[in-house]
Amino acid sequence: MSSQLPQRSQPLYEQTYLALRSAILTGEIAVNERLIESQLAQRFQVSRTPVREAIRRLQQENLLASDGDGALYITKLSLHDAIKLYDCRIALEQLSVVGACENATAEQLKGIEQTVIQSERLAQQGQYQLQNKLLEFNFDFHRLIAQSSDNPWLVPLLDHLSNHTRLLRTQTLQAEPDITNIHREHRQVYEAISRRDAPAAVEYITHHLKASQQRIREIFERSLPISSAEKPQQEALQCPRCLSFEVSRNGRRMGKQGYICKQCGRQFLATYGSSRYSAEIREKCIVLHNNGIGFREIERITGVNHNTIIRWVKSPQDK
Ligand SMILES: [Zn+2]
Ligand SMILES: [Zn+2]
Repeated sequence: MSSQLPQRSQPLYEQTYLALRSAILTGEIAVNERLIESQLAQRFQVSRTPVREAIRRLQQENLLASDGDGALYITKLSLHDAIKLYDCRIALEQLSVVGACENATAEQLKGIEQTVIQSERLAQQGQYQLQNKLLEFNFDFHRLIAQSSDNPWLVPLLDHLSNHTRLLRTQTLQAEPDITNIHREHRQVYEAISRRDAPAAVEYITHHLKASQQRIREIFERSLPISSAEKPQQEALQCPRCLSFEVSRNGRRMGKQGYICKQCGRQFLATYGSSRYSAEIREKCIVLHNNGIGFREIERITGVNHNTIIRWVKSPQDK
């Protein structure tokens, strides 16, 4: 695999950081691929020191995470993470469009409009290979609005969230949402900003991001292999590495049922067969409920049937 480093004028560690981050955000490195320092050094043709430095920075940015054994992976977002990510974007981008209505220059408005026009054109051509280009226009659209808001805190905060939105995209790449709606929504936002109509801009950006949140929710739902209704007696298995409950069956080995963690890809065997949920998963469901998460959403996060969770909440003693 060839991952070329950008301009040689930057410090080596900075170049390595940018190249590694790009490989992560474009999906060039797969979500379940283990990252190994020496292999990355070889890939980017640098020594291990800048690689180590780049890794540390990406861990701080929460784009990379290591498990208990020190194995390094791209951070995988759960549905809950994704929903909350969009909640943050909604709050910040409302500020962003209000600032843009007040402060965007004619030139900045033109730049925002260009991203809308260019992505509308690309979409009309309907070429699948242009999907990544299209995504870039979409990210530019939001970034240009933040830049024109005249609020210096918004751009770095939104960049951070935007990187995790990209990560989410690499996770859900097989299931592209309907992009036609996205263009219509972007155009509504743009037109409200160009009219300097802040209440309308807030309404449209909120509508757009809530619709995006819903599209991500649907992608997560579709990617569930079997509906919980079909496996009411599912064992409450937890990944020994990342402690996720999102595990699925993965053949039999040594006479035991094998499992694979959907979060980190770790394969493991059931240590004991129990048709009952563990106290931990029960506790987790109740905590989620107490935090205001709906029963259906808890079901999606933990894999426990919503009727079981309702029963637990109603009668905490009942197993
Ligand atoms: Zn958008
Ligand atoms: Zn795991």
